[in-house]
Amino acid sequence: MNYLRPNYYDAFTCSAGRCTDSCCRAGWLIPLDADTFEHYKTVGADIESNTFTDSDGDRVFNLRPDRSCPYLDADGLCTLYTKTDGRLCEICSKYPRFFEEYDGFSETGLSVSCPTAAALILSQTDNPYPDLRRETSDELLGFLCRARERTMKMIFSEPDPDAAMRKLVFYGGELQELIDYGELELVGEAEFYDGGEPSPNLGEAKRFILENTEILSERWRGLLKNDGENASGSPNERRNYLTYLVYRYFLKAVNTEDILTECRFIGLLYRLAETLCGDYAEAVKLVSREIEHDDENVAALIDYLAKEE
Ligand code: SF4
Repeated sequence: MNYLRPNYYDAFTCSAGRCTDSCCRAGWLIPLDADTFEHYKTVGADIESNTFTDSDGDRVFNLRPDRSCPYLDADGLCTLYTKTDGRLCEICSKYPRFFEEYDGFSETGLSVSCPTAAALILSQTDNPYPDLRRETSDELLGFLCRARERTMKMIFSEPDPDAAMRKLVFYGGELQELIDYGELELVGEAEFYDGGEPSPNLGEAKRFILENTEILSERWRGLLKNDGENASGSPNERRNYLTYLVYRYFLKAVNTEDILTECRFIGLLYRLAETLCGDYAEAVKLVSREIEHDDENVAALIDYLAKEE
């Protein structure tokens, strides 16, 4: 399948043993596909005792007490990869890439939960999404594609990425009215306006996350408890993070018909990362690992933001 991709996509290479914070230490329960499981059984890797079947019926890797993968060796390399001459399970072989399939086209990208991918994405100096025109026969999807293109142009022409984020959330409200009134042909007339800091208040949102989502790391819990605001990220880094979020999430509103909540979700992740800690790359990585990579956490936040409208 031909996946459309950002310009930086093909420049990514896993840092493996040189990685500053390996995904194999992220604390994720990684499902192992059946074919790879059968193959691993033949290579003397003790795969049955190092995996278990979870409540969804998936075979997943047991984690060590420090929540690292049992196959991560002292040099930061995967012993299964070494034993099998490079065979990884489906999820590990794709990570940190994500894939989205829409009516008429498919897209892929890199997740900022990987520090190497985050460094690549945050350091972009030109627009890495120069052509977001998409062919589709789905009317709502076509509307969202045009709106996403306009949003990217706005973000790259607005000197202050914080103002761009506020305009994005306001624009989400304008687009929502067009969807609700069935006026999709008027997408070019929705306006960007700086309507001030969007709700919810960041302190309230952090408390919601603490009380209603699954927390993987104590570092994340500690940062959420800190109500102080530690501004971080250069304007260029913040712009790159905002466009990453728009590229990844904007079109998902085709499933819910709720672009306002999607824009509020993008705005909330952006604001969280900016105020969590002094190291911006670390902050976006944590937001991604703790929220983006947990479907239930994403659903809880989307639900919370929809109720706040
Ligand atoms: S986090 Fe990224 S760079 Fe590090 S080991 Fe995983 S895929 Fe490789």
